[in-house]
Amino acid sequence: TAKAAGGQAAVATIFDKIIAKQIPATIIYEDEQCLAFKDINAQAPVHFLVIPKVKGRLSQLSKAEPDDKPLLGHLLWVAQHVAKEQGLEHGGFRININDGSNGGQTVFHLHLHVMGGRQMGWPPG
Ligand code: AMP
Repeated sequence: TAKAAGGQAAVATIFDKIIAKQIPATIIYEDEQCLAFKDINAQAPVHFLVIPKVKGRLSQLSKAEPDDKPLLGHLLWVAQHVAKEQGLEHGGFRININDGSNGGQTVFHLHLHVMGGRQMGWPPG
């Protein structure tokens, strides 16, 4: 088993297959570090995910170490950049990261949800 930094096994998820283009996804942004694609179960008129291409230890945000700060900043920058490309510049949008079971996380490969195109409620469920 490949070991991620920090000694944890890098368990593959469906997102690895999207990165490898082994399963289809509507990819709307890609660079050396990350990928953005439409969520298959959209919760808003615009709903996409931003993920690092190399997961490493980042199965979830709370596994982050200080070395991850540049990547985390990049993901956040890409999220707002693609949100604007998707037409959300004026109406606004929401960025959400689910961490662990209480956070509602189901896929253990760090991802930012970006949602917009409707009025978002608060508090979230
Ligand atoms: P979370 O519950 O925060 O871990 O979010 C996982 C998200 O991944 C959910 O919103 C799913 O709809 C989405 N998802 C799962 N499989 C796929 C897929 N093959 N393509 C696009 N989005 C997916």
